[in-house]
Amino acid sequence: MSQLQRLAVSPSQIEADRLQLTDRQQHYLMRVLRLQTGDRFIALDGAGHGWMAALQGREAVLLEPISTQTELPIAVTLLIALPKNGMDDIVRQATELGVSQIVPVLSARSLLNPSPQKLDRWQRIAQEAAEQSERQIVPAVLPPHRWQEALQIGQDTGCDPGCDSGCCLYLCEARGDRPPLLTCLKAKLIDRANWLPVTLAVGPEGGWTEAEVEEAIAVGYQPVSLGKRILRAVTAPIAALALVGAVLDDVN
Ligand code: SAH
Repeated sequence: MSQLQRLAVSPSQIEADRLQLTDRQQHYLMRVLRLQTGDRFIALDGAGHGWMAALQGREAVLLEPISTQTELPIAVTLLIALPKNGMDDIVRQATELGVSQIVPVLSARSLLNPSPQKLDRWQRIAQEAAEQSERQIVPAVLPPHRWQEALQIGQDTGCDPGCDSGCCLYLCEARGDRPPLLTCLKAKLIDRANWLPVTLAVGPEGGWTEAEVEEAIAVGYQPVSLGKRILRAVTAPIAALALVGAVLDDVN
């Protein structure tokens, strides 16, 4: 089973076996993931097609199609502020629900940097959960990032190439009069032809700070509600991911 990173691409970027990368995608693959020429990743076109791809200079070559049978049809990134407890459960359950990549966030109200051993452990849990759920792709658990960097990663993977607005970038906020995530998803994921990757951000036990919410909104994230009840930090990402899966299954 592959542990490779997934990259959402637009069909217009593909010509024969060449994949043209946008500046943002180049930054993501080379700077964030630190891939080098020859390194492999999975390219998904959001319309149910996937390829094993290899980086080649500033573009990529498509090596072979891959089966994406049990995978969600779009990439779903979870930005998760590190909780005091329960990260193991979040990684396991998020993987079962089809998440593509998990980005631990060092938010103002979360704990200090986790050890490299913790990261290895989370990646192992993701591997086991992917096997359990008969997935083809093991989600990547990235090293922890500061909020601004995490928001950027969400944009790199959660935006249609070249899109300035209308992306599926959602910030879950426990309080405030925010539109329901379900309503937002249904409005955006109406039909297969317009599917965009989704990024979800969930805060720590103490919630996001006002500054964090403002920073996210400033770069295009839509604050959303998961209902009138306050969910625990370990429950909220699972509820959000279940909604994404349900909407995609319904449209599919
Ligand atoms: N202590 C905070 C709640 C934190 S809950 C308070 O009392 O306000 C942890 C995280 O889960 C939140 O930051 C948010 O991202 C998410 N969350 C919990 N309940 C939610 C809800 N009803 N709607 C949207 N997000 C929610």
